Amino acid sequence: MLRLILFLVLAIIVGRAFWRLVDGIVAGVSGRPLDGSKTVAQQRVQMVRDPVCGTFLLPDRALVLSVRGKPVFFCSDACRDKYRAERHARPA
Ligand SMILES: [Zn+2]
Repeated sequence: MLRLILFLVLAIIVGRAFWRLVDGIVAGVSGRPLDGSKTVAQQRVQMVRDPVCGTFLLPDRALVLSVRGKPVFFCSDACRDKYRAERHARPA
């Protein structure tokens, strides 16, 4: 009887290790990192340009202003405020 219990415990441990391995393989094949970081996605992100000073930025680090439904990206508050001021000075 004790052998049967030991066998069951061993089977559970091996089973868990097996499914962990399967999860790892699935994650590797699908390109999803196990630690949940965005390294793969960040490599595909397009750079955006600040229309005021011309700096290229990562969209998730930029300040965003919505202009007629389209996002416009800025490197800083100063650039965003300058863009706003220019838009109000001569509305298109
Ligand atoms: Zn700027």
